[in-house]
Amino acid sequence: MNSWNGKPYYSLNSYLKNTYGQKLYKLALDGGMTCPNRDGTLDTRGCIFCSRGGSGEFTPSRLLSVTEQIEAARQMVRKKQKDGFYIAYFQAFTNTYAPIEYLEQIFMEAISHPNVAILSIATRPDCLSDEVLELLARLNRIKPVWIELGLQTIHESSAVFIRRGYALPVFEDALARLKAISIPVIVHVILGLPHESKEDMLATVTYLAHAGIQGIKLQLLHVLKDTDLADYYREGHFQVLTLEEYLDILIDAVEALPPDVVIHRLTGDGPEQLLIAPLWSLQKWHTLNSILEEMKKRGAYQGRRFL
Ligand code: SF4
Repeated sequence: MNSWNGKPYYSLNSYLKNTYGQKLYKLALDGGMTCPNRDGTLDTRGCIFCSRGGSGEFTPSRLLSVTEQIEAARQMVRKKQKDGFYIAYFQAFTNTYAPIEYLEQIFMEAISHPNVAILSIATRPDCLSDEVLELLARLNRIKPVWIELGLQTIHESSAVFIRRGYALPVFEDALARLKAISIPVIVHVILGLPHESKEDMLATVTYLAHAGIQGIKLQLLHVLKDTDLADYYREGHFQVLTLEEYLDILIDAVEALPPDVVIHRLTGDGPEQLLIAPLWSLQKWHTLNSILEEMKKRGAYQGRRFL
């Protein structure tokens, strides 16, 4: 049994301490790519919730080289950790959506940095060609490589509503191919999508609990400025979750996960300057403390039913 360092769930920090003996900070990077959901290949509008920055609001400028971005991002975490090892996280847009030579160049640059211990790449399951997988397998022999896939939901009607642009079998195929080359997969799930019930959200998490993934990011739906979701929200078509509703759904979701699935995120950071709702999520520490208190009160432990 892995150590959870006193937490009622298997956090990323616990995983890193177990594996590397220390916390590793994430350096969010921008590989300068776009997304088939934005460049017209599938759509031009992007997913309904996606901000103009393609979820890369916390990355340094894409005009900088990868090494320069790593150094700039290290400066930002320097107060917390003077030196040490990091996760190089290609976060903005779809980070395998570029010619293979370019991908090889930027990923090699990141993985070759002496302070980078892990390369983590956020992408879409329909952007993992055989040549990309071959590159990932090679990189994974140098240092650990993680792939993060934005699934958000298993429900087809929601997938169409959010304009995800691929069906569930595409995700299943990508997962199987990544598993075949021993690349750990972290899946992003959004809790609170319009028109999804608590049961729908838990069905997504329960499906993933049995899918053989290594990590999950549970993300509260944020309504951000300049998105189509913001218009839909203002028109009154749905309500965002209250803190109490979120705690109730989240804790059941955590309990549904096996004890060895690493929970990378329990809420998510909405960029403050873009966030329209729910505003309670800006109080990050209050939210996290409320989650932990509620878990303890309910005697809720990840994978309880699996132990
Ligand atoms: S796939 Fe990702 S980057 Fe592309 S539009 Fe959707 S959320 Fe944004």
